Amino acid sequence: MDGLLRDLMEAERLRLSFRPESLSDVIYAWNLQDFLKYADGDCPTEYCVGVSELIYCSNKYWLRRKYPELVIGENLYAAWSSFGRLIHSGVQQLLKDLGFVVEKEVSRVMDVNGLKVTVKGRLDGIGYWKDKLTVVEIKSSRSDNELPREQHILQLRIYMNLAGAKQGILLYITPDRLTEYSFDTALSDHELKILVEETIENKKHPRYSWECQYCQFNMMCPWKQTNNNKFYRKG
Ligand code: SF4
Repeated sequence: MDGLLRDLMEAERLRLSFRPESLSDVIYAWNLQDFLKYADGDCPTEYCVGVSELIYCSNKYWLRRKYPELVIGENLYAAWSSFGRLIHSGVQQLLKDLGFVVEKEVSRVMDVNGLKVTVKGRLDGIGYWKDKLTVVEIKSSRSDNELPREQHILQLRIYMNLAGAKQGILLYITPDRLTEYSFDTALSDHELKILVEETIENKKHPRYSWECQYCQFNMMCPWKQTNNNKFYRKG
């Protein structure tokens, strides 16, 4: 973990020693503990990249490390983040009752153009479903447009590769739909290596044309894609 992020995390950790004064304090502390558990890991190789970083813009990978306060803002100070974690927690309890292991960490060290890179991820659930080793990825979303989403399929297929699973299930929970999609092909090692290379060498910015408008770094990014040409007038 980078030094600045570590200092900010220490400041946040202090909050856990305060007695909660409201139920929202309790939820905030629970969300914080969950975030710290994952953000706190040291990197054993030259680079570490999370699976969720491989599926989006490569420049975000670098800007997250440069401006960790924005990462914390996205994960801790947004109500949507607590909402998503609470949904995950509820579904994971059901998965545990079915014999799944939840929150299982997976990783692999890869050689990318002479650099050692650790790819890390955390599975929402893994276990046997219909006699096949199955990874479950839970997605909560405000809308049920365009399901299943391309980046979520990619994420699930990376997890299947890292876990050696034969099957993957994407489970969506939205206000309008509760549905799931099954996949039986893991991402290949070759495809995974390309994604890691694109991220570490910052070659895909953005990965999807819609990303920039939702990006927390778009006020400082040289590659931001805008759709406001209609407002441009030659002087
Ligand atoms: S503004 Fe666009 S290109 Fe820049 S970091 Fe964000 S998603 Fe990537």
